[in-house]
Amino acid sequence: MPEGDTLHRAANALQPLVGQQITAISLHPRAQATRVAETVDGHTLESVTARGKNLILRFSGGITVRSHLRMSGSWRLRPRTDTTIGSPWLILRGDNWEGVLTGGPVLELHTRALARLGPDILATPPDIDAMLARLRGADPTRTLGETLQDQDLVAGIGNMWMAETLWHTQTSPWHRLRDIDEPTRRLILQTAADRMRAAVDSGREPRKQAHGRAGRPCARCGTRIRSWGQGDANRIAYWCPTCQPGPEPAVPPHLG
Ligand SMILES: [Zn+2]
Repeated sequence: MPEGDTLHRAANALQPLVGQQITAISLHPRAQATRVAETVDGHTLESVTARGKNLILRFSGGITVRSHLRMSGSWRLRPRTDTTIGSPWLILRGDNWEGVLTGGPVLELHTRALARLGPDILATPPDIDAMLARLRGADPTRTLGETLQDQDLVAGIGNMWMAETLWHTQTSPWHRLRDIDEPTRRLILQTAADRMRAAVDSGREPRKQAHGRAGRPCARCGTRIRSWGQGDANRIAYWCPTCQPGPEPAVPPHLG
């Protein structure tokens, strides 16, 4: 898809500006109306990524700018000139380079909450690589069960799908993230994406194998499914201790 390619190229081109304090200028009236330039001016550009057909620019202070190029817009990097020709939508000046957006046509400021949201597990196709990248930057000491429900890492997986996905991949929700290798992370995310997509497309509730089945036999091995609250939010994890071996949660013996 040409638009996606274009956005990824633009994201790559702008990387030399990442980490620099930006002087922002907007000369196009429609772009000025977005107040993007005055909002980001003086802030540090923290990252530039392509997400779908959007270029997402994150700045210090929790500011995020979304640029969608449609058919007319383009981003390019050039040596810093301190002069302008024409009426570009936005110029982001760093120490030695400047990124120039011409032809707009979509430039928006986004709120902190939207900006933080992880890649959507139900996107078609889901961006598993981007989710893996977020996991690499996540707290390695948190449990896998909590990590999968962190919407800033992956958007869309809740308590039920966490339990079902980990039952299917035979992974314990009590592992620390750091103990789960990259291929296993990928398998877990792909399994969640496939099963959730199938549920959406069929319009049917999945047949649950772990979630809400505490004390009942595991369909694979007959061991009783266990449950216990996990993390600060105390969301209940469900798992088969035989098929999903891992660290034991701190459960009083009479309650296990
Ligand atoms: Zn089992």
